[in-house]
Amino acid sequence: MSLSGALVPSTVRPWCALRSSCHRFPCQQTYFRRTATGRSSLRPTAAGRGFGATTVEEATDAPPVDKLEWRAPLSILKYPDPRLRAANGRITVFDHVLEKFAADLFDCMYRGDDGVGLAAPQVGVNVRLMVFNETGKRGAKEELVLVNPKIVSTNKQNSWYEEGCLSFPKIFADVERPTQVKVKAQALDGSKFTVTLTGFNARIFQHEYDHLQGVLYHDRMTKDILTGILPKLQRLERDFESQYPHVTFRKAA
Ligand SMILES: [Zn+2]
Repeated sequence: MSLSGALVPSTVRPWCALRSSCHRFPCQQTYFRRTATGRSSLRPTAAGRGFGATTVEEATDAPPVDKLEWRAPLSILKYPDPRLRAANGRITVFDHVLEKFAADLFDCMYRGDDGVGLAAPQVGVNVRLMVFNETGKRGAKEELVLVNPKIVSTNKQNSWYEEGCLSFPKIFADVERPTQVKVKAQALDGSKFTVTLTGFNARIFQHEYDHLQGVLYHDRMTKDILTGILPKLQRLERDFESQYPHVTFRKAA
């Protein structure tokens, strides 16, 4: 399944879902290599680097969101639902409601098909929150939650990897991304931290971060790779059109 399979057990396919609050995650201590928190200037998102990519501005001015509303159990939106392309607001309230939402995201992720990460817009809640667990298995290793994440920098070395997405059932294709990313984010209690992610965690983060930018993984595929999965994308588009004939969406081609 992967071009860099040493990063992850062969049974795990990327992506998407999580639960818990960061104070319950021993996570960053062992899985994230902490870096000194500094006033680094933010770089633009990596979106737009790939062939055929869609350029989306870093949402540093994302509108604040002070109330979260969702219906449990959460269900995952499928491409091409336009909510996957909508702007995502900055979370401003850090309370038990946010913790419950993160927990529900994890539950949803673990119910998914080998999901290892999930971003809030994938369940129709357009806020800047992601959860992930590189093992895709509840109770295995750490569950990570990043609130209002921002990319500080990426390294210059890229790698290719066969990605999937819970919003694109059973569609897998290669995507090129930097192998390391430095991130600023907040925990569920609102505390700020800076981490440097490498390996599979770096890839999961960048995939989920794209969701927060309204960018989907096929935006980053080369023209040839995108052409290879286009029939599957167009099948999803036809399914959506038949279910929601009056809803407009962006087509893959
Ligand atoms: Zn995804």
